[in-house]
Amino acid sequence: MGFTNFHGHTHYCDGKGRAEEYAEAAITQKMPVYGFSSHAPLPYELPWTMPESETEKYVSEVRKVKEQYAAQLQVYTGLEVDFIPDVAGPGHERIRKLDLDYTVGSVHFVDFFPKGHPWEIDGKHELFLEGLQQIFNGDIQKAIERYFSLIRQMVEKDPPDIVGHLDKIRIQNEEGNLFSEEALWYRDAVEETLQVIQKKGLITEVNTRGIYKKKTTAPYPSPWILERMQALDIPIMLNSDAHHPREITACFEDTAKLLLDIGYDHCRILLDGKWQDATLTIKGIHYVPS
Ligand SMILES: [Zn+2]
Ligand SMILES: [Zn+2]
Repeated sequence: MGFTNFHGHTHYCDGKGRAEEYAEAAITQKMPVYGFSSHAPLPYELPWTMPESETEKYVSEVRKVKEQYAAQLQVYTGLEVDFIPDVAGPGHERIRKLDLDYTVGSVHFVDFFPKGHPWEIDGKHELFLEGLQQIFNGDIQKAIERYFSLIRQMVEKDPPDIVGHLDKIRIQNEEGNLFSEEALWYRDAVEETLQVIQKKGLITEVNTRGIYKKKTTAPYPSPWILERMQALDIPIMLNSDAHHPREITACFEDTAKLLLDIGYDHCRILLDGKWQDATLTIKGIHYVPS
């Protein structure tokens, strides 16, 4: 069996290609299952989210692909949903009415610029520095603590099925100029977040996009966080955050190897309509139907 991927975009948001093209790529790679999770709409002008008016079309296109390829591939319909307090989240009425198979919950925004636009933490570095200055007076510790507190708030109050790219804010720190992951305050913020995730029993994805886009050298979350997650027995799934059909399993072999070295030999996936654990290998997953 090949790998699985439950974090995949399409042309409905900022992904390239139709759902059908991703499904065909998944079949070529002998994947047993593929999950779509385009960016859910947000009430802001953004180049990477799906327009509200397109949401139902997206859902029905993915469901059509599910039927079309049913003999070769299981397809699930999801969305990557932003958590912004009082604005958007996985449990928002706009999302619930779509009757999705699952949601990936992600924090891409931390608070708001004085002019009212939300501050994007994984966009352009200059914009990141601007928000850091204007909203947090340049205090990176405060900004990052706020980022992780938003993830905890999502996990506790508005939980998705899958926690998306836990430490993506690291994308701004590849040179290590802004903060050290070894700082006690950083470790504490991560630990507190893991405790909340463990208590809720949520799946946390291991996301390879930073690696194949050459923004980071390790997946989200960092290996030391994965070690801690393994000790806490937090279920994981390997996801690529694909924005192109060629990215659906990008860097999976190396990342699976890293996970196995850490002691993670299972991942949790949605298969046959149920969340279940499958054995992880460097060539894909093994799954014995119960
Ligand atoms: Zn994301
Ligand atoms: Zn994504």
